[in-house]
Amino acid sequence: MATTGAAEPKLLSFTEARQVVETYAAKLSPTEPEMLSVLDALGLVLAEHLRADRDFPPFPRATRDGYAVRAFDVATVPARLHLVGEIKAGASAEQSSIAIGKGEAAEIMTGAPVPSGADAVVMVEYTQRSGDEVNVRRAVQAGENVVAAGSEARQGTMMVPRGTRVTHTTVAVAAAVGRAEIAAYRRPKVAILATGDELVDINLPPGPNEIRNSNSYSLAAQVYAAGGEPVILPVAPDAPDELALLLRKGFDSDLLLVTGGVSMGKYDLVEQVLASFEAKFLFTGVRIQPGKPVVFGEATVRDKTARFFGLPGNPVSTMVTFQLFVRPVLDALSGSAPQPLPFATAVLQSSFTTKTGLTRFLPAKLGGTHERPEVEAVRWQGSGDLMAVSRSNCYIVVPPERDRYDAGESITVLLF
Ligand code: AMP
Ligand code: MG
Repeated sequence: MATTGAAEPKLLSFTEARQVVETYAAKLSPTEPEMLSVLDALGLVLAEHLRADRDFPPFPRATRDGYAVRAFDVATVPARLHLVGEIKAGASAEQSSIAIGKGEAAEIMTGAPVPSGADAVVMVEYTQRSGDEVNVRRAVQAGENVVAAGSEARQGTMMVPRGTRVTHTTVAVAAAVGRAEIAAYRRPKVAILATGDELVDINLPPGPNEIRNSNSYSLAAQVYAAGGEPVILPVAPDAPDELALLLRKGFDSDLLLVTGGVSMGKYDLVEQVLASFEAKFLFTGVRIQPGKPVVFGEATVRDKTARFFGLPGNPVSTMVTFQLFVRPVLDALSGSAPQPLPFATAVLQSSFTTKTGLTRFLPAKLGGTHERPEVEAVRWQGSGDLMAVSRSNCYIVVPPERDRYDAGESITVLLF
């Protein structure tokens, strides 16, 4: 096959590239919705609004164990009240018919309906019981320790909007509104194509100069965690014809991720072979480290828009560029609005120097306490150092104009 030479270079800043990806993602439509049991929908994106099927709470709910009272009766303490019954969570019809009159109280448990007439709950800690009387030692305001019916949500209120990624909180709401099954967008299919003559798959013994293909698996893990369905293709050799054949296969998926072969080496053929599909490149590099040679584009293949990323082959570069650029596209294909990157700040533990010109994402370990989150760069041998990133839980983010950070400075981190 004749390759048509590399695409015209388009090297962007990190901010520009992120903007390009977000703008692109905003125009994508999600996959078809399907009905799934709530737990199977975990990590996918809601394709419907979840609405309250009744008032939340459905009754005025006691939030403490104690005594249901009329606040007016205990405005002056100590106050002695007459007990007219006991109400527990899941109160029987008899218990819920209890009404509190002047000078009366009922023993009540957390989660029980506050009886009519009562407007507050006194915590048991502030009371002393003797027979069918209770002595209240502390005054309460009307409404204290009671959540009014419908105050969390009225029946029919939208509680979780379509486009929300399903987490444990969404699952809780679905369960609370009686939805054993919910509509979620199908996982978009993401083809993963590792390239390189040196690669062998993980179930084969590597020769002395070969290395195992880890990128296909780390990417599959990232894709799955992001709500996609990974489709791992066989490793492509550094040969244009075979590469083209496998790319064609990858274009069948909703998105194709290629790793390796996008740098400047003699056998880095991915860009050329992609160009031979008359691909349009949105960028062919980003001023970041690791991950500078990352490529993003689309082509029309069999009358369908095929979208692809060419991710650099160094394992840390592959991971970083997935998170920075692939993730928003995958979010959009799975029905979610692009999410902001999870940045945080922490106190740097050790000084370091670097060179200006690139936005850097350096593997690091975040620790410390909630009062003082601390971060330390992990020693690494560069973007091929898979073992260093496995000891990390975030990246330190260094803007392109900075060449030095001192211990004690506050620094931005990007969480995994
Ligand atoms: P490349 O981007 O093809 O120049 O590869 C850069 C470095 O990443 C080389 O050292 C490759 O051996 C390594 N590499 C490429 N692809 C993979 C892969 N799938 N798994 C692990 N390492 C890889
Ligand atoms: Mg290679």
